[in-house]
Amino acid sequence: MTRVGDLLATRRTLSFEFFPPKSSNAQMNLGMAVGELQSLSPDFVSITYGAGGSDRHRTGDVVKWMRAQTDLEPMAHLTCVGHTRTEVAGLLVDHRRNGVENILALGGDMPAGGVPDSTDYRYALDLLEDVAATGCFSIGVAAHPEVHPRSESRRSDREHLATKLSMADFAITQFFFDAEHYLRLVDEMAALGVDKPIVPGIMPVTNLRQIRRMAEMSGAEVPQWLIDRLEMCTTPEQVRRVGIDAASTLCRELVEAGAPGLHLYTLNSAATAKEIVVNVDLVAV
Ligand code: FAD
Repeated sequence: MTRVGDLLATRRTLSFEFFPPKSSNAQMNLGMAVGELQSLSPDFVSITYGAGGSDRHRTGDVVKWMRAQTDLEPMAHLTCVGHTRTEVAGLLVDHRRNGVENILALGGDMPAGGVPDSTDYRYALDLLEDVAATGCFSIGVAAHPEVHPRSESRRSDREHLATKLSMADFAITQFFFDAEHYLRLVDEMAALGVDKPIVPGIMPVTNLRQIRRMAEMSGAEVPQWLIDRLEMCTTPEQVRRVGIDAASTLCRELVEAGAPGLHLYTLNSAATAKEIVVNVDLVAV
């Protein structure tokens, strides 16, 4: 078993993010993606958690399966929206029983229909405190290079992140397309005295409409240079090639700038992530 916080203290990490499948077809896709990406020896992989705790058992099922059937080190996402303290305590006990040592403690996306009445937590920090109190996990938190859309100001966004990082071991960022956003975040956190690792999250674009929707939700901007390149494409494969090229360039810039790791959002598809890792020569690192 490996703690992500310990790994980040020793080397630059490579990690992949997956989401839990909702059908047997999706389950086969995930199995194939995990099988292929395993050959790249990622330091850890993370499994998302349904908005508002929807399908909450699925994350646990996937991490349990990974522990039992693969050599991968899983990190379970956990969100506070829609959860009581008792439910969270139960989920943490299950994760420990299944050998999970890493938790990403998140606010959580709002479920359709708004915040459920049963929510005991307001912010990720509240959840983080309960996870940290167990003393059993290495804990990561979310960071938002382009500022979280609900933040009152850039300053308050950074201050709340600094408070989370005083207790957590590391942060993973929301996706972004220009390295400048990440570098500015790291500088702003350093100015607040924060030196915990902030791992950039990279989302390769494979579909312009989908990425626009995701960017709108997360507060990220799809830059005009990227939109221009994508709009010139006439086939889905051309779009994928532009996405791979842009993500590979971004990864190279981040590695050169000293990022402590790279976290690739795979959307449960191995081919794109694999090409980026090969392009950036990350396996040999
Ligand atoms: P918080 O830290 O609670 O911050 C939310 C907002 O509240 C921010 O604007 C912050 O500045 C503000 N804030 C924080 N504390 C205070 C305070 N004390 N007073 C006033 N304002 C405050 N969502 C999912 O549902 N499932 C997932 O699996 C998932 N995985 C993710 C993985 C990564 C790497 C990232 C970056 C995001 C992920 N998300 C996921 C999305 C995330 O849940 C949303 O972006 C959510 O809206 C914010 O999460 P947070 O942990 O930053 O929340």
